[in-house]
Amino acid sequence: MSLLARSAEDPADNRAYLLNNGTARRYHSAVTESVTRISAKIAATAQPFTGITVDGLTPTVSGVDLDSPLHDAAAALDELEEVYLRDAVYFHHPRYLAHLNCPVVIPALVGEAVLSAVNSSLDTWDQSAGGTLIERRLIDWTAERIGLGEAADGIFTSGGSQSNLQAMLLARDEACRRELSREGSPVGARLTDVLPRLRILTSECGHFSIRKSATLLGMGAEAVITVPSDDTKRMRTDALAAELARCQSDGLIPMAVVATAGTTDFGSIDPLPEIAGLCAGYGAWMHVDAAYGCGLLVSRRRALLTGIERADSVTVDYHKSFFQPVSSSAILVRDRATLRHVTYHADYLNPRRMVEQRIPNQVDKSIQTTRRFDALKLWLTLRIMGAQAVGELFDEVIDRAADAWKLLHDDPRFEVVVEPQLSTLVFRYVPSTDQDPDLSDRVNLHAREALFASGAAIVAGTVVDGRHYLKFTLLNPETTLEDIATVLDLIAEHAGGFLAEQPRPALSAR
Ligand SMILES: *Cc1c(COP(=O)(O)O)cnc(C)c1O
Repeated sequence: MSLLARSAEDPADNRAYLLNNGTARRYHSAVTESVTRISAKIAATAQPFTGITVDGLTPTVSGVDLDSPLHDAAAALDELEEVYLRDAVYFHHPRYLAHLNCPVVIPALVGEAVLSAVNSSLDTWDQSAGGTLIERRLIDWTAERIGLGEAADGIFTSGGSQSNLQAMLLARDEACRRELSREGSPVGARLTDVLPRLRILTSECGHFSIRKSATLLGMGAEAVITVPSDDTKRMRTDALAAELARCQSDGLIPMAVVATAGTTDFGSIDPLPEIAGLCAGYGAWMHVDAAYGCGLLVSRRRALLTGIERADSVTVDYHKSFFQPVSSSAILVRDRATLRHVTYHADYLNPRRMVEQRIPNQVDKSIQTTRRFDALKLWLTLRIMGAQAVGELFDEVIDRAADAWKLLHDDPRFEVVVEPQLSTLVFRYVPSTDQDPDLSDRVNLHAREALFASGAAIVAGTVVDGRHYLKFTLLNPETTLEDIATVLDLIAEHAGGFLAEQPRPALSAR
């Protein structure tokens, strides 16, 4: 019989789809079949992408009748080949060079299989038991790597955006609490009086989720002050000092400074020790967004993060530089007491008395309720391969980026923005004959799109000083310098083809 087929038109057979002691063998064969297929698929992917278009794929997905089940896992997996697997974007391919997506380590995939089958929910002890303790160990482990001290704590989140949101929430509520309890604060002053005076300072290369957080937290995107970066794309601390002083003289409250340890575009690391000093001086919460740079915690380049130990909160995305599958992220805080700003007690779930009984309910520290046991993936990664191996993989891609920078720097076809601290390269093709900046924009946009449409490689794009650039984000140690050289040749070919089709500029009569 086919996999997971229903044996008869008997409603009792529906129960055969539930995983339990009676169906464990069905589960085993169905999942084994899916793993067999996906491993064959991964072994055979010759390109990161097929180049399918939205219009090309939409009819296939739309054509599936969701109200006519196949009653057969093998048939559904056959169909999945058409609607998804054939045209998916494969991050493990060495010529996937676009966004901050890593190839994933196998120990974490073992964790993924376990965690979804057991399906613990990490909101309370009574839904997870050991899961809660494992998560807490990993939070402690990470906080110790950062150097946050004895009172540190934190929680796993769905990603860097959520970690940043929670950090800004804690910073906001700490600033409000302090402001309202300050001597000389007007009698009867309320939260709503304080909110409009709060400001968040971050560099122009900071992540957009900070602005989004400010909006979600009722402060408005205008509450974010953008601090300029220097020509290595690191926050200018003289400008930060000036903005902090201006806040003070304008009666505003600099509630948080967000330093980025690995900006999304450039991988640049803001000067953490100087920023920590300024935060201490102005009583501002220091948040370090290390969504990308967190891999340095286990690398031989750990010193690049010096100063992070002075942060009030830190965002880490294990699903970026720890080679974990999406999602796996955490927020760490220096003072566990600050997590009380997200603590709410529900009679049915985590009543107050459980705190006295010392029952660890992770929901007390989270903005989510039901929550995946993502921590298990990191646990098995550390238990099987170890932190040092993870760090060595990250170091390899940083080394590769340094070599690729030399390649780009010496190649007259391209211009590269900054020498990388981590593993991104922002560059553009420069048309040799023409100085028209708009043409250069169009060439680079075209080259990126044409490459994507070919599926041979995928690169990202970004805007620097109003101009369009291309971006490599290297996170795959399997990507060789030769791969990078080949992709540069492909970009140059697409760019050259585009230029050849442009009408020649009329010769100006001089
Ligand atoms: C990726 C990234 C984020 C957002 O993280 P998600 O996991 O995508 O939500 C935040 N900050 C920085 C610096 C990032 O690179």
